[in-house]
Amino acid sequence: MKKYKVKQSKVSGDGLFATQKIAKDEYIITYTGEYITDTEANKRKSKYIFEIDDTHSIDAQDEKNTARYINHFCEPNVEARIVNGEIRFYANRDIDKGEELGFDYGEEYVDEFITPTGCKCPKCI
Ligand SMILES: [Zn+2]
Repeated sequence: MKKYKVKQSKVSGDGLFATQKIAKDEYIITYTGEYITDTEANKRKSKYIFEIDDTHSIDAQDEKNTARYINHFCEPNVEARIVNGEIRFYANRDIDKGEELGFDYGEEYVDEFITPTGCKCPKCI
């Protein structure tokens, strides 16, 4: 059963929200998409490219990837773990029903896409 739903977020566009309590370390969702090399990733300049390791990334241009709705939080409640070449999101603390899920996108992304307009995550607002 899905533990989340997409709805409008104050942070940015649509966000992903917990529809039930999620315990720390519980699996939530996988970041799916096209498996591409870093050379290809650098060419695309997509906002939805997620690095797996030094040589490969996942590009989630495809809207079927619900995990891409997870917004940036400076104090995240989910974390990504690379398992068998997949990017899987887990709760890094207990999450309440109704809470928005947030992930730390990393310095590079934040500098390029978030800082120019100002971060609207729960910690920064
Ligand atoms: Zn923030």
